[in-house]
Amino acid sequence: MIADFLAPDAPLRDWDNDCLWHPFTPMSAWIKEQAPIITASDGFFLQDTEGRRYLDGISSLWCNVHGHRVPEIDAAIRSQLDHVAHSTLLGLASEPSIRLARALIDRAPAGLSRVFYSDSGATTVEVALKMAYQYHRQKSSDGEDRSMFLCIGNAYHGDTLGTVSVGGIDLFHRSYRHLLFRTLTVPSPVALRVPAGHSRETWLQHCFDEVERQLRENHQQVAAVVMEPLVQGAAGILVHPTGYLRHVRQLCDRYNVLLIADEVATGFGRTGTLFACEQEQVQPDFLCLAKGISGGYLPLGATLTTERVYAAFLGDPWQGRTFYHGHTYTGNALACAAGLASLKLFEDRHVLQNAALAATVIRQRLAGLQQHPQVAEVRQRGLMVGIELVLERDSLTPFPVEFRIGHHVTLAARRRGLILRPLGDVIVLMPAPGMTPELIGEICDKAIECIEEVVQNALRRLASGSPL
Ligand SMILES: *Cc1c(COP(=O)(O)O)cnc(C)c1O
Repeated sequence: MIADFLAPDAPLRDWDNDCLWHPFTPMSAWIKEQAPIITASDGFFLQDTEGRRYLDGISSLWCNVHGHRVPEIDAAIRSQLDHVAHSTLLGLASEPSIRLARALIDRAPAGLSRVFYSDSGATTVEVALKMAYQYHRQKSSDGEDRSMFLCIGNAYHGDTLGTVSVGGIDLFHRSYRHLLFRTLTVPSPVALRVPAGHSRETWLQHCFDEVERQLRENHQQVAAVVMEPLVQGAAGILVHPTGYLRHVRQLCDRYNVLLIADEVATGFGRTGTLFACEQEQVQPDFLCLAKGISGGYLPLGATLTTERVYAAFLGDPWQGRTFYHGHTYTGNALACAAGLASLKLFEDRHVLQNAALAATVIRQRLAGLQQHPQVAEVRQRGLMVGIELVLERDSLTPFPVEFRIGHHVTLAARRRGLILRPLGDVIVLMPAPGMTPELIGEICDKAIECIEEVVQNALRRLASGSPL
């Protein structure tokens, strides 16, 4: 009976265990853990079936911007519902998608003048990859077949096969290696663990030089460089040195290679500016936006590009220069309405100023962890924070993997009413750009308590030889 699914006293826990397969989740461990089942929210708090409240310390996986149940965004979606929830962009145009495209172009780095919508972060990068490839084939009468992309080590651009091909996170990507297209990779410009024979300085210099060498040697085969500007999120909040993004842009110009900036994570205030590229005055050829674009309300992606790229796809319809790509829910009206309301809130509530203040609060509150014997590094750019835990700071020896130390910190956080999600042994704090500095301070203080509790417990267990 259909009514069974809707009964207020339905056994949700059992149904979750019986019917769902959760993303990025070792399901055998999940079933034992009884994760909260979220049924309500207010502001920056989520509430579960037991009535417990949790502070959302990771912006609902890096996408929430102004909180949950934001009156202005709720009203915009309701008002759109009174008109139309969804209509296609294939053969029809739709009002909210037009307004949002105009607003995005006004705010994006100069030179970006066209918006191609899709519905997730991965699809925005897929779109950029295909456009970059097809651009080189069609830009002149003797079009080039440039089928390579230059990628940064440990990159993450999503989980579809194209984005896995340009990704470099071994744990996530190694199973699929026979299915992927070939790419060129340069090392990620970070200097926590430098290879033998290098100092931090010589290693970073090597990372800069490698981009130049790869492009010098291979530019005729390379369609585009793909990168997450300033911060590599899923790699463990790896923060690039100042000037790297600019350096890559300059080399792309020199060698006539396109630059794809994946700002799916860094966009919409997460690094302090609306877009990370602004901080190095970089104009990418593609800007990939998702996660925060709808304020964290609804799935939406946008790939912005330049008139130069767009022009290579023009011609008579029968010439076959069209970009044959699209997704059914492309430019969904409700999601675009939410996106417009979110952009308005950025102005009305001075969200970027708030984010700047919040970033300072985080820096101050976490300062004490910098010297902690089980903390390898506290990495931060704006509101993106990674605290890497290690057994031994000097040798950077990790905790045994079976300890799942990061996961245990999130369990400790849950007991204190805080939602966190780690990346391996890196504890991630990703407060929303609209969150008050007071709540952000609370996230920091609770995270420190949890780290302390779990680390001390782990050290005791190691000393006594028992498992965590
Ligand atoms: C999350 C993320 C993606 C993938 O976005 P989805 O919406 O999950 O497909 C791509 N790139 C970066 C940098 C991300 O952080």
